[in-house]
Amino acid sequence: MMKILTYPDTFLRQVSKDIEIPVSDYDLALIESMKETMYKNKGIGLAAIQIGYQKRMAVVDASKSQTQPITLINPYVIKRSDITVKGSEGCLSAPGKFMDVPRETWIKVEYVCEHGKKLCKTFYNMTAIVIQHELDHMDGKLCIDYRGDNTKDFLEEAEKEKKELNESYQESQRQTAERN
Ligand SMILES: [Zn+2]
Repeated sequence: MMKILTYPDTFLRQVSKDIEIPVSDYDLALIESMKETMYKNKGIGLAAIQIGYQKRMAVVDASKSQTQPITLINPYVIKRSDITVKGSEGCLSAPGKFMDVPRETWIKVEYVCEHGKKLCKTFYNMTAIVIQHELDHMDGKLCIDYRGDNTKDFLEEAEKEKKELNESYQESQRQTAERN
């Protein structure tokens, strides 16, 4: 089992690089360690950057039985749903922290499997969400970063509310003035 880097470790901010195909024995061994580390920590996804490797690789298993690992090498989203869902997300690199994150409900991903085969597959629901979380890791982004977006939404909402209140106040003042 490998040690998982945790926030605020700056290595987690590095952008991962594509790995060479065919997949080397070294990288294959790394993938096995990643799976072991993910399962032992009861995770449903793990990106290589989380264990200190700047490689565009992740393992994902959103199945209930935790027996269906998916290995994603050099993954890129080529199509995504218009609809997003917002759910609470946690991360092995940010223990105990949870954040509401908007995610697409399905994504079509081009990637290489551990046998070196190039695949193009559409993933849905939880698996799609976990893959988007891992893709964020590959760009140096963490789910807890979405706090900023939420704060912005919140501030915009508060500003709007204030404006509406002001307008309705002015309106009531005007009506009062008219009545008098
Ligand atoms: Zn994570």
